[in-house]
Amino acid sequence: MDGRYDRQILMPQIGKEGQRKLEQSVVTVIGCGGLGSPVLTYLAQAGVGTIRVVDGDTVSVSNLNRQFLHGESDIGRRKADSAAEKLARINPHVRVDAHACYLTEENAGRILAGSDVVADCVDLLDARLLAGRACLSGDIPLVEAGIEGFYGYVLDISRRTACLECLGYHRRKSPSPIPALGAVAGVIGCLQAAEVLKILLGRRELLLGTMLQYDGLRCEFDKIEIEKDPRCRAHRSCGEE
Ligand SMILES: [Zn+2]
Repeated sequence: MDGRYDRQILMPQIGKEGQRKLEQSVVTVIGCGGLGSPVLTYLAQAGVGTIRVVDGDTVSVSNLNRQFLHGESDIGRRKADSAAEKLARINPHVRVDAHACYLTEENAGRILAGSDVVADCVDLLDARLLAGRACLSGDIPLVEAGIEGFYGYVLDISRRTACLECLGYHRRKSPSPIPALGAVAGVIGCLQAAEVLKILLGRRELLLGTMLQYDGLRCEFDKIEIEKDPRCRAHRSCGEE
């Protein structure tokens, strides 16, 4: 390699072996908007070998306050294609597979199959719940995040730990469209990217069973312990006891 990763290989938590792990990894990022822009950028820069980009939307002018992978000249283009093109410029050694469609019950199994980690970067709650169920069903680690105004959260989800439905999110209503500021999406997306990389590197210090909440107005982070609900339908639907 051309020295591109020298500075992160210096990290004892990565080294040459960790770098090889990243290069052999497959990460699926659902949504390439406000959260997806930082997540995809940092995964590509870090050298994650295969990145799947899933987004059925096209770029509109109201995306540009936060979705920095897209610019004025991309308006009207498919977001997955626009993002894939920018990522190829950032790091041509990374393979990017663009899926210009929304994740659905029907296609989720096929699109997510073989992923080492999934990052959920969609905005609407229904789409996040679908991603959560699909990852539990496929037993794929999921890095889940959301923002609304100055607030954001990140958590990692597995079959062993709480998911959004354990927390009752399926009974909530999210506003549509969701108020969103680029800087807050950036904070949360960077945290999400770091969690994805830690999972790929086999780190144990994860946000499993813990939700990290960010209040950008007060500039406060809180870590909240969260418990798996034994009656959770999402967990039970994947054949768990
Ligand atoms: Zn659950």
